Amino acid sequence: MLAEELRAIVGDEACLTRDEQLLVYECDGLTLDPSRPGAVVLPACRDEVVAVVKACRIAGVSFVPRGAGTGLSGGATARDGGVVIECSRLDRIRAVDTENRTAVVEPGVVNLDLTRAVEHLGLYYAPDPSSQLVCTLGGNIAENSGGPHTLKHGTTTNHVLALELVLPDGEVVQLGSPTGVAHGYDLVGAVVGSEGTLGIVTAATVQLTPAPESVETLLAIFPDVVSSCRAVGSIVESGLLPAALEVVDQRTIAAVEDSVYAAGLPRDAGAVLIVELDGPACALDAQVERVRDLAGRAGATRVELATDEAERQRFWRARKGAFGAMGRLAPDLYVHDAVVPRARLPEVLERVCSIGDRYGLKLANVFHAGDGNLHPNICFDRRNQDELERVMAAGEEILRVCVDAGGVITGEHGIGSEKREFIGLVFGEADLDPMKRLRAAFNPDGVCNPGKMFPTTRFCTEANPKARGYERVPL
Ligand SMILES: Cc1cc2nc3c(=O)[nH]c(=O)nc-3n(C[C@H](O)[C@H](O)[C@H](O)COP(=O)(O)OP(=O)(O)OC[C@H]3O[C@@H](n4cnc5c(N)ncnc54)[C@H](O)[C@@H]3O)c2cc1C
Repeated sequence: MLAEELRAIVGDEACLTRDEQLLVYECDGLTLDPSRPGAVVLPACRDEVVAVVKACRIAGVSFVPRGAGTGLSGGATARDGGVVIECSRLDRIRAVDTENRTAVVEPGVVNLDLTRAVEHLGLYYAPDPSSQLVCTLGGNIAENSGGPHTLKHGTTTNHVLALELVLPDGEVVQLGSPTGVAHGYDLVGAVVGSEGTLGIVTAATVQLTPAPESVETLLAIFPDVVSSCRAVGSIVESGLLPAALEVVDQRTIAAVEDSVYAAGLPRDAGAVLIVELDGPACALDAQVERVRDLAGRAGATRVELATDEAERQRFWRARKGAFGAMGRLAPDLYVHDAVVPRARLPEVLERVCSIGDRYGLKLANVFHAGDGNLHPNICFDRRNQDELERVMAAGEEILRVCVDAGGVITGEHGIGSEKREFIGLVFGEADLDPMKRLRAAFNPDGVCNPGKMFPTTRFCTEANPKARGYERVPL
């Protein structure tokens, strides 16, 4: 029996097969479409990952890498009763190289823990998803995660130099170069953002960033979300490059202020815009004044500057706690993720809000406005079938509005199982074909994380006639 073999590899306590244990793994941050795995293993080292992969293959059972399970597109959910390989015990920071500003990390390292481990050296890890207190670097790599500071510092792909990957056949390969000097195909680039479909990352060399000399954070208060978006456009147009430009709308403000993340945000504001500037201290005063002026011209009724680090952290606690705070509004939350050209933000936001109203839904917006990366959040109760249907219909309309505006269907949360049926909105068959072939080159029989990214689970068979479908196999 596979379960016995898995126990022999990872130990009894690191192999979960009881119903109440598996329940925890039946979804990630996307609760809409739960699916229970056949087993969950928590390997403690790369060799255990390799042994688990080989055992699954022999048994004909699929497997799914998983980090902290905070993904919002169903990427870490086993869709066919396969084995979840949770990487949280591979959590060592193996080396820090200050001269080259790099770190070698295992995939289970929590995002914020890396920054905490190197901040005494004047360094930090720049990609900062709002989930950074819990999400892992393995999950960040697989999703090419962004965060509030992506605007200036880029997404995960801009910070990964090399990877150790366990291929779906159990072979271990080293991709990229710890020096960051490119040679051959950019396979690191291919794996970053591949949503756990090309193999299991067991180590990564990542770039560390010098902490800025100075940081200034402003809170601009607007009568409505549309004028806050206009301010975003004019700030970028002016040539300024803030580290972050984040919009929080009125419904989100109310949820945050009623929660443990309360930051004293004005409840009567239509929206607030958080603007963070970083760089040499001597340059920031002029930039702060410029932002004040531009925000005022766009309609800001007030612009506050954080006077100390505690106040700055208060603004960020409100922003980063926003999704959690929405738990107060309804039992379920559907976090959408789409990107539109920044200049189209005001009009798209208006249309998104009117879709929410038309379907009678509680829709709240908190998003990476500088990147044009929208997060319309729909609060609902999935036990209410009628409401659930309205949520799904509104979600599809929102995606179509974003695509019609020249946008794409995901900015940072991935396609997963959530959006695979919508990938045709942005890619035709001819565009998808090379992607399917790439996946088939790494994962020829589709055993690693099946049912994700592409519209049909049979895509591997299409790309490789020798492939077989991995069905639910009793463990
Ligand atoms: C409150 C909240 C706020 C969020 N804010 C942001 C944000 O600002 N920006 C953003 O980009 N995302 C955000 N997210 C989404 C999520 O946190 C990110 O996608 C994150 O990178 C997922 O990491 P994880 O460790 O939870 O991965 P999981 O959810 O466990 O897995 C995500 C994907 O990674 C794959 N994977 C995991 N580990 C490995 C591995 N070792 N090798 C190969 N594949 C692997 C899985 O198969 C899955 O496809 C947020 C989520 C929540 C709940």
